[in-house]
Amino acid sequence: MKVSKFGGTSVASADQIKKVVEIVTSDSARKIVVVSAPGKRFDEDVKVTDLLIQLSENSLKGEDIQNELEEVVNRYRQIAAGLGLDKEIVQVIEDDLTSRLARDKGDAVLYMDYLKASGEDNNAKLIAAYFQHIGIEAKYVCPKEAGLLVNERPARVQALPKGNELLSRLRDEPGIIVFPGFFGYTEDGTLRTFNRGGSDITGALLAAATNAELYENFTDVDSVFAANPRVVDNPVAIDKMTYREMRELAYAGFSVFHDEALMPAFRHSIPVCIKNTNNPDAPGTMIVKERDHSSHTVVGIAADSGFSTLFVDKYLMNLELGFGRRLMQILEEEDISFEHTPSGIDNMSVIFRSHQLTPEKEARIIQRVKDELDADDVYLHNNYSMIVLVGEGMRHTTGLTARAASAIARTGTSIQMINQGSSEVSLTFGILKENETAVLKELYKEFFSNSPIYS
Ligand code: ASP
Repeated sequence: MKVSKFGGTSVASADQIKKVVEIVTSDSARKIVVVSAPGKRFDEDVKVTDLLIQLSENSLKGEDIQNELEEVVNRYRQIAAGLGLDKEIVQVIEDDLTSRLARDKGDAVLYMDYLKASGEDNNAKLIAAYFQHIGIEAKYVCPKEAGLLVNERPARVQALPKGNELLSRLRDEPGIIVFPGFFGYTEDGTLRTFNRGGSDITGALLAAATNAELYENFTDVDSVFAANPRVVDNPVAIDKMTYREMRELAYAGFSVFHDEALMPAFRHSIPVCIKNTNNPDAPGTMIVKERDHSSHTVVGIAADSGFSTLFVDKYLMNLELGFGRRLMQILEEEDISFEHTPSGIDNMSVIFRSHQLTPEKEARIIQRVKDELDADDVYLHNNYSMIVLVGEGMRHTTGLTARAASAIARTGTSIQMINQGSSEVSLTFGILKENETAVLKELYKEFFSNSPIYS
């Protein structure tokens, strides 16, 4: 039995949904179908999730929302018409949106979650109706009844393993299950959405709970590429990689698969296949536990911007018991989650995502580190990018860092930080954002175009 998840572009229009149905019915093992909200139909189009965010924001402000509401309903109306479904389903969707909009606005986060989740919820209802319309046994399943349990607010939304027992029963249901991605319910019945792109997480959770033989993640590219195709011309496709490698790449900007979705698949050893709805015969990229890495030392290179560095210097820091803990505590109290902490004997840098900062917070952190830790020097730099070389084979290869550093030097870029994770699956270089594109291109050339290692 396979769990197949279809992303936003795969379910954005009637024609795309017809492709989905063809894919699902071409393999009887495809039993659980997880769907996103309608995504972009063309480059300048707006995802239904974004329309819903706008709609809920305006509703919270008490503004007139008639146009936005109509825009959302219209997306479903067009899909339903293209699929030959009667107007009844559009009425169901409109009524559903109206009742969500009328919910209590006392808690803005909750209110928005209910509206955001309607994107996938209504699309799942519509797609299930289409399966039935063409005579295929299928049904919409609500995550609440199915047992997709999540933790309580305000912690980051995560699924509770407690729900797995109930979820596993989906396997024995007759016909095809159409399941909305992106959200679950707390034990007291409150809806919470995962982070953006979270339908991948729903798919992985269902694949794990039902012990599926494969979790297929259908998107709009043939495979995961070794580098961002918007920066590097025709990067090579990755045919196979490990969970660990995908995790590292997803972390640093490979948005084709949500990094949080790997955990359930990894824990239950469910292989994942990234495939293209528009070209389902292409083999796609397999994500598995182990691979032969003798020929693909570096599997991919990711580049991500939006990092800040807090640099702290204090003479004899290495002898001061608890210095690191106290520094991290300040950051914790300021709600900053960190990424890397490279250190020297008398100094320590903490690297984190800049979006967590505000100008007030920035000033407060610097002041607190100065006062509470009596540091000699403290400063904060923004505009950093991280370039991450990823590959399980790196552990067994000598000279790789030298090659990477030489390639970076060729672009005239100064390296601000090097971090080789203890697992040696990744090698991270911190550079200034302005050098990101040049460095990524040169590293790609070094490891993929010229390299005798890559075949
Ligand atoms: N529709 C949601 C989003 O745009 C979730 C998803 O598509 O996975 O983030």
